[in-house]
Amino acid sequence: MRGKVWLVGAGPADPGLFTLKGRKILQEADVVVYDALVGRAILDMIPDSAEIIYAGKRAGNHTLRQEETNQILLQEALKGKKVVRLKGGDPFVFGRGGEELELLAEHQIPFEVVPGVTSAFAVPAYNGIPVTHRDFCSSVHVITGHRRKDLSYDIDFEALVRTKGTLVFLMGISSLADICRGLMDAGMEETMPAAVLERGTTAAQRRVIATVATLPSECEKNQIQTPAIIVVGKVCELAETFSWFEKRPLAGVRVMVTRPREQMHDLSERLRQEGAEVLEMPAIRTVPVYEDDADKERAELLDEALDCLENGGYDWLIFTSPAGVRIFFKRLYERKDMRILSGIKIAVIGEGSRKALRSYGLRADFMPDTYDGENLGRQLAGILPEGSRILIPRAAAGNQELIEELKKVPEVQITDAASYDTKYVSSRLPEEEQALENADADYVLFTSASCVRGFAAGSGRNDFSGVRAICIGRQTQTAAEELGMQTRTSLKATMDSMIDCLKDAVREGIK
Ligand code: SAH
Repeated sequence: MRGKVWLVGAGPADPGLFTLKGRKILQEADVVVYDALVGRAILDMIPDSAEIIYAGKRAGNHTLRQEETNQILLQEALKGKKVVRLKGGDPFVFGRGGEELELLAEHQIPFEVVPGVTSAFAVPAYNGIPVTHRDFCSSVHVITGHRRKDLSYDIDFEALVRTKGTLVFLMGISSLADICRGLMDAGMEETMPAAVLERGTTAAQRRVIATVATLPSECEKNQIQTPAIIVVGKVCELAETFSWFEKRPLAGVRVMVTRPREQMHDLSERLRQEGAEVLEMPAIRTVPVYEDDADKERAELLDEALDCLENGGYDWLIFTSPAGVRIFFKRLYERKDMRILSGIKIAVIGEGSRKALRSYGLRADFMPDTYDGENLGRQLAGILPEGSRILIPRAAAGNQELIEELKKVPEVQITDAASYDTKYVSSRLPEEEQALENADADYVLFTSASCVRGFAAGSGRNDFSGVRAICIGRQTQTAAEELGMQTRTSLKATMDSMIDCLKDAVREGIK
């Protein structure tokens, strides 16, 4: 059976600019071949089951690499795989998309092309520069600034100047001075506004606005790096009036979130809406005991607890995390049905667990005013009658303060049933692994103490004094402080409160 290749544009970097179609196809891929310019958050959408191949290009050895990439696409498709060739921006805009299809066409491999948002237009937009404007120009041109092997350019500067249109140069930073000189020699006025836009749509986005005469020296002063595009034309003047990207509360802030992957997206999405660039580190993963062959004993204990629940053996059920709720109900439905809960009271540690419970059609009977184990235990113990029988299906090695507080109820019977474990996972993406190692972010958000430990284990280093941690609660904070991190703790144990805490830190000017 023949496979198929999808040539997919990933957009300039911001995951919000990746198309819905591209995302859907990516999630069904068997093999993903990606480039250096594909945004990190987009790489995070690659399913765990897919094989990942890096086809990044390094200046200088283009030809060989390109042929190798073409071969990989062909060979994987011949194996019957669904191959996604993921490229920065749009695959047909200086993306060599055409070249990659030639070999496939020759071998009658079926393929599709999914266009992407090109950096040529999106990066100016993220900098407040409309590439066309009726008052200033009537055309826009996209040009490669790349030099040939003999160092000459394929650019007809006279023709470009005559168009009076906006000129967008990709791959032009190393030739910036030559391009500006070429345009002026061809008759462009020295006062023509021009811009260099660096790392567009990421938290590190920067721009230099100058004139075609001063742009090279201004860029040198500002140490502009790649990837960046050059825009020449009167529309560049509008950048200061129309800029919007950096006006959002968390603009320019790079945040790392380390939550179990399954629950991560909600928090990331909210941070992105506030303007942050989010790196998702799947530092830990929750594994139900009944899905782990190495955990048979604990799985049996959990099942025994369910039998006991069915036979009226418990009065209260306590949940201490949303994952705990989901994992408990999954097993309950596999083995029994909802009726075993009739007459049972339910307590939750906080808002997240309460919501998770609600999704099963159940209301919590009790929730403490401060969301941590100690408060849950103490406040609940205050209302429980003597001899209460309590089941707590939760993470293995859960917090002991909860148990200590509940034990103060006379004759109480507590079953602390491990329903899941948190496992450390390392990333399959070399740059992600590296980002974790370097704690390559302005802030790291921790939503549990085990996330802190997962992050530490994954980073493989000893000094965490440079890490600015935003913690969800006291236990998380303690874990982060033990590692020497700089910490801040949100007022409440909710995502909103964590985001507020981060905003406070940013407002106080640390970053
Ligand atoms: N197919 C891509 C362009 C590939 S050529 C697209 O449609 O966007 C690579 C060049 O694109 C880089 O040298 C740089 O000029 C530009 N580029 C890509 N992503 C960029 C980004 N996020 N910010 C600034 N320039 C970018």
